[in-house]
Amino acid sequence: MHEMSLCEGVLQVIGDQAKAQDFHRVKTVWLEIGELAGVDPEAMRFGFDVVMQGSLADGAALEIIHLPGRAWCLPCGKEVHVRQRFEPCPLCGGYQLQVTGGDELRVKELEVE
Ligand SMILES: [Zn+2]
Repeated sequence: MHEMSLCEGVLQVIGDQAKAQDFHRVKTVWLEIGELAGVDPEAMRFGFDVVMQGSLADGAALEIIHLPGRAWCLPCGKEVHVRQRFEPCPLCGGYQLQVTGGDELRVKELEVE
């Protein structure tokens, strides 16, 4: 389950922020997860609780913000919505797509005290 190591990455980010902004407790973590990031939100929630135990984010709430998968279709000349990587364009059925968004996994915001 690679979500576990992703959660450790999140904890790293929180730790860095804590040092930079001098806070000691995190109450809520807003995490952006793109549709194309290959991350299972449920596994992420599970991993989050485990990894945050004993850290400054122990017991913190995890709010997941879902971002849609977006890709630029060359033949259509416009941006389209894709649900997964290597999916054909929903408009023309072509595969000349370049992912432009929806592959993010990042900490958007922290509620701290
Ligand atoms: Zn197209």
